[in-house]
Amino acid sequence: MFVGEAPGRQEDLTGRPFVGAAGKFLETLLNEIGLLRNDVFICNVLKCRPPQNRQPRPDEIQTCTPYLNRQINAIKPRLIVTLGNHSTAHVFAEACLPFEGITKAHGKPQKAAIAGRKVIIFPTYHPAAALYNGVYRRQLTEDFEALKRTPARK
Ligand code: URA
Repeated sequence: MFVGEAPGRQEDLTGRPFVGAAGKFLETLLNEIGLLRNDVFICNVLKCRPPQNRQPRPDEIQTCTPYLNRQINAIKPRLIVTLGNHSTAHVFAEACLPFEGITKAHGKPQKAAIAGRKVIIFPTYHPAAALYNGVYRRQLTEDFEALKRTPARK
């Protein structure tokens, strides 16, 4: 299961997550480790696009949390990949894991429990960050290589 931050404009219009440029790059990253988009479930912490694409407010995140938790219980993922600082901060908080920012956390899988389920949480950068920055692109590629080697929690 992959968890992004919030739908962008394209995603809000179509009702599907990661259909824009960041989604294309996410698909490339998946393909590079031998996965297709259809092999994984992709969603967001927030279920609607914040006006003017501003940062999600804490009350908006709180409103959407039961929905995400129901998705986790429906999908029953053994591995949750968090995309970017906001998504990782939220999922780590829900899993009672300490979080010191995505720069420190990325690429390091954590055993955790979230929404009553035992999972491995694997934080990485948001694919949108890599669209304009080669450093993030390289780090995402390396994280996905590490992700390929990470066993899902049984
Ligand atoms: N960014 C996200 O975090 N989610 C999307 O669905 C698209 C872009």
